[in-house]
Amino acid sequence: MSKLKLATVWLDGCSGCHMSFLDMDERLIELAELVDVVYSPIVDTKEFPDKVDIALVEGAVASVDDEKKIRKIRAHSKLLIAMGDCAITGNVPSMRNPMGPEAILDRAYIENASAQPQIPCVVVPKLLQVVRPIHEFVKVDVFLPGCPPSADTFHIALTALLTGAPLDIPALTRFGA
Ligand code: SF4
Repeated sequence: MSKLKLATVWLDGCSGCHMSFLDMDERLIELAELVDVVYSPIVDTKEFPDKVDIALVEGAVASVDDEKKIRKIRAHSKLLIAMGDCAITGNVPSMRNPMGPEAILDRAYIENASAQPQIPCVVVPKLLQVVRPIHEFVKVDVFLPGCPPSADTFHIALTALLTGAPLDIPALTRFGA
């Protein structure tokens, strides 16, 4: 049986969800028998592939680049999983919403700069006025809550999705999702 294509994506999050995914430890070896990781911060692929079976997305949509990425990911993925509370609710990144992006940029690049205070106009993508969860931009198929979701949560949910086994909701609840 050919392996499914799995992508993991990092939008506006702290990478803690990816760290928790990696905390599956030796269970990653079982996972590698079922999927090929075709795009991720942990592999060296620059472009999101055309056809992905499962995309796990960490982080909220905070910039013009994030919005472009999530629309492309949706268009090229059969199943899109919002992984973690930033992707699902906005969570930590959305704490800037009451201030607006200008105040945040001023704080980071002007007030706290010890040399050459200036707002960058290249490399740093244009921030959206409001940080929003990904389901406000595209359809999400599965929500995996937690900050971050635990390694056990990843394991239970991915095993069910990949093997067609029934999803063990009591176990998910026990592990904090
Ligand atoms: S949900 Fe928590 S762990 Fe995941 S990216 Fe957001 S802040 Fe980090």
